[in-house]
Amino acid sequence: MAKLSMYQLQKYLPKTDCKKCGFSCLGFANHLISRDVRPEDCPILLEPGYSESLAKLNELLGPGLDFEKEVTGLLIEPEKCNGCGICVVVCEINLEKSQEVESGRGPRFTDDVVLRIDNGRIKLVDPQSCRRADPSDYICRACVELCPTKAISLV
Ligand code: SF4
Ligand code: SF4
Ligand code: SF4
Repeated sequence: MAKLSMYQLQKYLPKTDCKKCGFSCLGFANHLISRDVRPEDCPILLEPGYSESLAKLNELLGPGLDFEKEVTGLLIEPEKCNGCGICVVVCEINLEKSQEVESGRGPRFTDDVVLRIDNGRIKLVDPQSCRRADPSDYICRACVELCPTKAISLV
């Protein structure tokens, strides 16, 4: 499956930044990637005139159920997370994609990372960028092995 970017999804959003969804359009696109929201959660997309955009977004996103597990084989249990951030700074993809993470800090909102802390809990924001999503890559389990609370495990 081709990796989606928030900019790719933003193209099909109304781009009004009306925040009726609780975010800017770019923020909404980011939450679409992590499957926290569905395209139908943008009320503007439900208005006449946006049906093609809505269909395109659903086509790009595909089925959302168990997406993280299907793509990465990781089971994320945010309720067990203490927000320590260890997984965020040991993930090699995060290190590659964020200078902030490379410096031992949390990623910026616009950094295209795999894992981030959101409201004090871990979130797998971009399953498709995880090394485990690429069968030709080595089998990474750094976040699983180093999480002190076992909030990340293998399915
Ligand atoms: S409700 Fe829709 S149009 Fe408004 S900010 Fe959110 S995504 Fe953009
Ligand atoms: S498995 Fe590896 S690449 Fe994937 S989120 Fe965990 S540390 Fe990052
Ligand atoms: S998932 Fe584990 S390592 Fe990552 S922030 Fe939560 S407790 Fe820390």
